[in-house]
Amino acid sequence: MPEANPPSPHAPEVSRPHEPAQKAPAVKEVHIIWVTAGLSCDGDTVSTTAATLPSIEDVVMGNIPGLPKVHLHNPVLSYEVGEELMKYWYMAAEGKLDPFVLVIEGSIPNEKIKKEGYWAAQGTDKETGQPITTCEWIDRLAPKAWAVVCAGTCATYGGIHAMQGNPTGAMGLADYLGWNWRSTAGIPIVNVPGCPVQPDNMMETVLYLLYQAAGLAPMIPVDDKLRPTWLFGKTVHEGCDRAGYYEQGDFAHEYGSPKCLVKIGCWGPVVNCNVTKRGWMDGVGGCPNVGGICIACTMPGFPDKFMPFMDEPPGAKISSAAIGSYGRMIRFLRAFTNHTSNNEPKWRHPRPELTTGYHPTTYAPPGKSPQRRSVFAKL
Ligand code: SF4
Ligand code: SF4
Repeated sequence: MPEANPPSPHAPEVSRPHEPAQKAPAVKEVHIIWVTAGLSCDGDTVSTTAATLPSIEDVVMGNIPGLPKVHLHNPVLSYEVGEELMKYWYMAAEGKLDPFVLVIEGSIPNEKIKKEGYWAAQGTDKETGQPITTCEWIDRLAPKAWAVVCAGTCATYGGIHAMQGNPTGAMGLADYLGWNWRSTAGIPIVNVPGCPVQPDNMMETVLYLLYQAAGLAPMIPVDDKLRPTWLFGKTVHEGCDRAGYYEQGDFAHEYGSPKCLVKIGCWGPVVNCNVTKRGWMDGVGGCPNVGGICIACTMPGFPDKFMPFMDEPPGAKISSAAIGSYGRMIRFLRAFTNHTSNNEPKWRHPRPELTTGYHPTTYAPPGKSPQRRSVFAKL
């Protein structure tokens, strides 16, 4: 074995007190109770499995410095099934899992309007033998939750199930609990919309709340629609790969074109969503970037206010007509400049004379001014 090098005599003396490398989290363990029993397709859970920043695996395996130990209970992802899984729901409702983060996936049906049966439920009441409705689980769990997160547009604002004409009276969680609702830690409902939710948006929000539970992050900032401000503060259009085409008034009129998609139904200019900047999986994708129109799936007015999906948005007719005439002139001028800047300057040649315009100053005899010539004299 080679011997270790002795410390350099010039190295500064560093005192190393026996302190841990990082601050211990304020809580040792956090449970996540993820209810997938709203009206939904489980697509938000499936989408979240694609997260990389961070991945679910890194969070639950303890690979992220500073986090408490995380126990994830999700009917689609957990090994436990049936009563083995449901015991965590009962423990949380009885205040025996403290703290826990409640994740709601799927829209909330209105159980008060039906004549019989139920719209959505999970588990069976041991005393009555009846299903426990999703609304009842929310009533039991939300008052005990350290924080509540809505995964996807169904849970946040109602989504597809809450369209005009639906029979269930479906709504988002904030419509059900109230927009000013606060958790036991004083945290508002945190909405992460998307149909489905963008994987890293979901896991980054969960990570933020876990850091907040650990005492390592301030109150999560959310906007008036309860979305994390750093994720939903910009529009699709502001991050779109095709925005250069829009600005030049160069529009696609059929799918498969690399140009701006506004004429074939893209709502990107008025939609709060970051997937054109963030991509979908591991930085790749993001609807318009890869050829799909933005149908505004993150928005509280989705879907009714954006249908029919493949028509040009009404507001886009005026803006695209205005940008169209400006864009034609700009495109012509840019094509001209592009042509000239695609040619090298004429002094780059192998001939035996120097034509760069380099003319050093010559020193004049005493009493005479030095001769100066512009370096551009021979261009
Ligand atoms: S494709 Fe949509 S988001 Fe992209 S530049 Fe065009 S209108 Fe904007
Ligand atoms: S770009 Fe539009 S359709 Fe795509 S995820 Fe964002 S809001 Fe939804």
